Amino acid sequence: MFHSGVIRCLDCDAEMTGPVCEGCELTPAAASLVVRRKVILRTGLFLLGSLAFLAAIYRFPPLEMDKMLVFCGVLFFAGLGIAVWVERGAVRGNQIAIRKRLFYTLIPVPWVLGGMLVLNAKLDNAPVRDWRAEVVGKFSMAAMVPTRRLVVVSRPPGRQFERVAVSEDEYSRFRVGEDVVVEIHPGLIGVPWVARVVPDPLAGPPANESPSTPYVRPAMRAAH
Ligand SMILES: [Zn+2]
Repeated sequence: MFHSGVIRCLDCDAEMTGPVCEGCELTPAAASLVVRRKVILRTGLFLLGSLAFLAAIYRFPPLEMDKMLVFCGVLFFAGLGIAVWVERGAVRGNQIAIRKRLFYTLIPVPWVLGGMLVLNAKLDNAPVRDWRAEVVGKFSMAAMVPTRRLVVVSRPPGRQFERVAVSEDEYSRFRVGEDVVVEIHPGLIGVPWVARVVPDPLAGPPANESPSTPYVRPAMRAAH
């Protein structure tokens, strides 16, 4: 579509036939400035969209949350990389029509994905599915956004293994070895998400709460 050899205006992509673009009446230097300003504004829009996508992931944690977070991160850095590529191209006066198109196409993507996650949860009227599982591990990370996961395996064991995102309360409430019920919404567009984790009412007391001899600190020998 954009033939090599033809000089195009950086801003409106019209073919340059003189010192000033006939489409937007900008000189190449002015067009470069205009494009860079647009790229900065749209990068801001893209960053906001990525935050909204991240917020949607945390608000309605998908069962496959970690994969979703990795995807969000890849999208974020790809968008940022392409924005820099467009901006550098505009500074050097390179032909950037295709780069711009790529970048502008990417800008709504995090907004759309975040919106889909919200709709997936908000319009989901299907009954909650109870998934009985046992906590086999847990980990938390105090990063920019706190990450708390219960590692659970379905009962009977060996069938399914998941890292379930939980709240601070749920994280401190459950211990390894405890039987739990993970309440899963199927999701309107088929992205299952976790509503909450509750103790399994059918389970007995947690295995690690069996009565045991409390640890008694050896008395310090009295100094004479
Ligand atoms: Zn132009």
